[in-house]
Amino acid sequence: TYHSHLELRKSFFDFFQSKKHEIVKSASVIPLENDGSLLFTNAGMNQFKPLILSSTEPRRVANIQKCIRAGGKHNDLDDVGKDLHHQTFFEMMGNWSFNDAFSKEEACKFAWDYLVEVLGIDSERLYVSYFGGIEKLGLPEDRECKEIWKNIGVPSHRILPFVAENFWEMGAAGPCGPCTEIHYDRIGGRDASSLVNIDDSVVEIWNIVFMSNVRDSSGKIYNLGRNHIDTGMGFERLLSVVQNKNSNFDTDVFIPILAKISSLTKKNLKYNGSVSSREDAVFRLVADHVRASTIAISDGAIPDGTGNGFIVRKMMRRSFLQGNSKLGIDRFGLSDLVPTVISTLKNVYSEVEKSSDKIINIFKEEETQFWKTVDKAKKMFDVGANENKSSTISGRKAFNLFETYGLPLSVTIEMARNLGKEVDEKEFERCQLEAQKLSQKASQFKLPVFAKDFPTHSDKEKYSYSFENGRYAFSKVPTT
Ligand code: ATP
Ligand code: MG
Ligand code: MG
Ligand code: MG
Repeated sequence: TYHSHLELRKSFFDFFQSKKHEIVKSASVIPLENDGSLLFTNAGMNQFKPLILSSTEPRRVANIQKCIRAGGKHNDLDDVGKDLHHQTFFEMMGNWSFNDAFSKEEACKFAWDYLVEVLGIDSERLYVSYFGGIEKLGLPEDRECKEIWKNIGVPSHRILPFVAENFWEMGAAGPCGPCTEIHYDRIGGRDASSLVNIDDSVVEIWNIVFMSNVRDSSGKIYNLGRNHIDTGMGFERLLSVVQNKNSNFDTDVFIPILAKISSLTKKNLKYNGSVSSREDAVFRLVADHVRASTIAISDGAIPDGTGNGFIVRKMMRRSFLQGNSKLGIDRFGLSDLVPTVISTLKNVYSEVEKSSDKIINIFKEEETQFWKTVDKAKKMFDVGANENKSSTISGRKAFNLFETYGLPLSVTIEMARNLGKEVDEKEFERCQLEAQKLSQKASQFKLPVFAKDFPTHSDKEKYSYSFENGRYAFSKVPTT
């Protein structure tokens, strides 16, 4: 059964609506002020944080959340392109039980039924992991969870105990708890225990967190006194499974984007979907980064020198540079990709359509600015480099060019090579680490430890959704 991305979204909302969940709209990828220094929304649960410790009313909620993982606790920025199932911008499908609105058993059963009964995914391709316990923290193995999966009908050899990956924590302190994850084997017919961390042929699709604990600032873990369940599933990963593709990038959310990139290359290069090809990796990187920047800008981010604007600028510059140097896209050509990216998102996120002119203009401006900067930095580089007799360019100089002009290390290396010189990359890395440490200090995810410190929950807006003419519409439901 082939599901378009729009059909898959609808089936998810319909299923959880039938299980009495309220459908909540995606929050912005730019977190609310009171989220402190979290750069981008990185999980579906972000917008529900206030509900976790401060409310007592049972509630069932489901949504599909725009997420960007390009900084802070979850940072996939440097993995994108290299594998077939990480993006910086992805959508997370999720459903929640607040205050025992449903049980652990039901949470697992909902997930399984949606995948197997509704979507018709071959259950023999699925395996599950559960929390195996950490003795020294006094955290027992989650036997209950193991039993739940057995009762659902998952054979014992496909239920594996995981340790570190299956104890979920929001931050150094705060709510936490054991979790259970559903994984999909893209090949099939293999022994589940041989598949752990194997390669791109297996993907983690759904994480179900049983949030029943809280960790205080001394590191001790207590019972929260009530149970919440927080689940998150990678939308593009699920889409690749139902569309029977080997990669997120082969689904209908990416196909038009990759085709357009191909048409922008001088030699009409094609995307072949290979994990080991350098060229394909650049296709993926450019597709992802332009998409992520588009979403971030439509939610109000502006490329600049600090915070999330810095990340957006970094992603844009990376795609300009790699698109040009690795794929032969014209210096001022990548902006032409933006309308295609917008067209793949606008039926789902009307804010993207609303700000399409702004997004396109910002891209054009950044692209022009970037190449001017590169040329200026090149001049700067030449001045010092020609005078200096040494055969190496100092890492600090390379780092300064990077910091001041945004000149990527790869360009500096190339310029050095043209002069028969090398860049001290080790020193560059040291400078980068130093700078990272400084910025990490400034951006640690600060969390109140006690329930009373959490902001109180002012009634969340409730939405109903409708799907007409290939477009989503959310409307506010008056709260009683
Ligand atoms: P992974 O181990 O693959 O990096 P994760 O354990 O970091 O994933 P979670 O924090 O458990 O991810 O998020 C819930 C779900 O969101 C994952 O099971 C996965 O399906 C999806 N997901 C996470 N990161 C990404 C990403 N960078 N791109 C696409 N989907 C993602
Ligand atoms: Mg991850
Ligand atoms: Mg994981
Ligand atoms: Mg996970």
